[in-house]
Amino acid sequence: MKKHNFSAGPSILSQDVFSKSSKSVLELDNIGLSILEISHRSKEFVKIMEDARSLSLELLDLNNDEYTSLFLQGGASMQFLMIAYNFLDSNASYIDTGAWSTKAIKEAKFFGKVNEIASSKDQNYNYIPKEYNIPSESNYLHITTNNTIFGTQYAEIPDVKCPLFTDASSGIFSRKIDYSKFSLIYAGAQKNIGPAGATLVVIKKSLLNRICREVPSMLNYKIHSDKDSMFNTPPVFPVYACMLSMQWLKSIGGIKEIERRNRLKAKKIYDEIDRNEMFKGFAAVEDRSIMNVTFNLTDESKKTTFDEIVFKENISGINGHRSVGGYRASIYNALSLESVEILVDAMKKLEKNI
Ligand code: PMP
Repeated sequence: MKKHNFSAGPSILSQDVFSKSSKSVLELDNIGLSILEISHRSKEFVKIMEDARSLSLELLDLNNDEYTSLFLQGGASMQFLMIAYNFLDSNASYIDTGAWSTKAIKEAKFFGKVNEIASSKDQNYNYIPKEYNIPSESNYLHITTNNTIFGTQYAEIPDVKCPLFTDASSGIFSRKIDYSKFSLIYAGAQKNIGPAGATLVVIKKSLLNRICREVPSMLNYKIHSDKDSMFNTPPVFPVYACMLSMQWLKSIGGIKEIERRNRLKAKKIYDEIDRNEMFKGFAAVEDRSIMNVTFNLTDESKKTTFDEIVFKENISGINGHRSVGGYRASIYNALSLESVEILVDAMKKLEKNI
């Protein structure tokens, strides 16, 4: 029986993606070949890659003249070092909003000076810092738009003078954001884009002329862009599944419709957290994520009982990250409202002790 999957990633994808991608493993679009055996230079895959790249720009509401989209490998973690390798010349600024930002900072330090201009570490990252000054000579400012572990998100994207970069791994395609404020956006695919194995990088074309040092080919954005994201063999199957998942998103009404659904799902859980005395939310209310909902029990001794209820309800993947404890419900795009309602009912059952 299909579980209600609240995993933080890899995570649930739409049923449409599961059926179409599994069919393609046997045979892709009546071509007599499986998606797993076709050349990345075949006309079928070249089209899939082109579609995936253009759909990603379309969903972010960015235009093809100004931005290029790449599907790379190495996960968001590879981007931590790649952005600095290509663009950290004298110094760059970072806002530390949790474990993933901290890792991005650590990797950037291999390449130059990092100004950590703000951090919410003082409160175990339960909020987004709003006050900071960006040194005028910063090569870029790096933020993490949605913090998967702590369940916070930037409600507003800051207006800054230097190029703005973001790790959008867990928030991409979840709500309307003015992505034109960013010069570089990257995201591991395994939440709202598709399965693990591909990493989306969207980059302003003008930035490609500002690579600040000699960079080996595989880590050089310009080379990947010049080769239309096919410098070497791309992850053919993950890119195909990403393309299907973006097609699905477009078919249901795009970002506008998914944002409506996501806000409804998030409201259902946050309302219950705020109402039900058995639970308390972790993130500061104004910074609450609509993708990762973090909460704790008010009485830890109820843990076994709640875990049993959750198990019986066929709910999977809601254990919190070890640095926060408690629970985390990741309610990515493909998760249904019904699954959220089952979770809310489970929370009510704990309260009623049934
Ligand atoms: N950044 C964020 C915000 C994440 O949530 C994750 C993974 N959960 C990563 C980076 C790391 O991604 P990857 O495993 O693709 O390197």
